[in-house]
Amino acid sequence: MLDLGMPLSKESKTLDLASIKTDAIIISHPHQDHYGLIDAADSKIPVYIGRLGKSLIDVVRLLLDKPPLQNEFRNFEKWQPFTVGDFRITPYLVDHSAVDAYAFLIEAEGKKVFYSGDFRAHGRKHILFDTMLEKPVKGVDVLFMEGTMMQRSNADFPAEAAVEEKIYETIKEQENISFLISSSQNVDRLVSAFRACKRAGKIFVIDLYTAWVLELMRTVTGNVPGIGWKNLRVYADRNYDEVLKANPEVFGNFRRSAYQYRIQKEELQADPAQYLYLSKMSKFRIIDLYKGGKAVNLIYSQWLGYLKCSNDECYGAEEIAAYQSDKQINFVYAHSSGHATVQDLKRFAATINPKMLIPIHTECGAMFKDCFDNVYELSDQHVVTL
Ligand SMILES: [Zn+2]
Repeated sequence: MLDLGMPLSKESKTLDLASIKTDAIIISHPHQDHYGLIDAADSKIPVYIGRLGKSLIDVVRLLLDKPPLQNEFRNFEKWQPFTVGDFRITPYLVDHSAVDAYAFLIEAEGKKVFYSGDFRAHGRKHILFDTMLEKPVKGVDVLFMEGTMMQRSNADFPAEAAVEEKIYETIKEQENISFLISSSQNVDRLVSAFRACKRAGKIFVIDLYTAWVLELMRTVTGNVPGIGWKNLRVYADRNYDEVLKANPEVFGNFRRSAYQYRIQKEELQADPAQYLYLSKMSKFRIIDLYKGGKAVNLIYSQWLGYLKCSNDECYGAEEIAAYQSDKQINFVYAHSSGHATVQDLKRFAATINPKMLIPIHTECGAMFKDCFDNVYELSDQHVVTL
């Protein structure tokens, strides 16, 4: 089974997961819509996932006070084939807004299936996409390809560099604090914000959770900022601090080193124009503390669709949306998608040239036929025999 995600829509059909017997579950990346239901699967089924992706899932559960997952986890390594029964699976590291994200080549009985997972060609790791085009997998029978962007445009921010530029332009002459609404796990975005701060001579303030995400990232790359870097300070939210204190076996010395670079509320309020403060939608109340003087910048740096969403996952969306018409707030949109544009999908599909292309991860499966060759729209319960 490839991915076992939490549906984004409440109208989605439910499956009797306990009755599903597969040899393994392969998780492409640590986004809820790709792994969010694995706790409902039979815990004896092995779950394959990248090492870093698993660590990120673990920390989210810890911080949200959810019990650890009981599945039998196994790690794979990028580009290292592994086998599950008769299947040979090769993970391809891809560029996406989640780190440790993979596409998979699955081979069995002389047939090849390629699963794109979520991917794009315009992030900081776009070289991974370029390489898949330069050295494409040949003889693919079925390509499962995502189509998130089929009816969406990325024209305002065609690449991550444009987001960095917008943040820099917004904060460089600010007279009050700026807030950045973004996911702590969108590491490309954290790097953009940090670089913008460095260029503008500002300080990027992150919470303990985000600082820990960067700490984990630094085990695999030196290209992300970390604790102790100039222009980076940590705000110690009490809830997160309790979790760190209670789990020294997970966090080691991290709590102590984070505290050396901690910033207090008083320091922020004394000279707010010095800071870009990373926040989540649910923490909207902090913004009001700085209103009343010079305009506060609110840089909204994630999918605009979340502002219209009303489920529990989007707590605070209504309040953030209301800031768009608040005269004391300068609402700025700065976001580049985590998913490939239609143009890049066309390049990818044409290069792979599969015998059959099956749309996945899209609300516009019917549009695939207009853009790609050999499309076969698969509906629930249908079986394809190769
Ligand atoms: Zn994703």
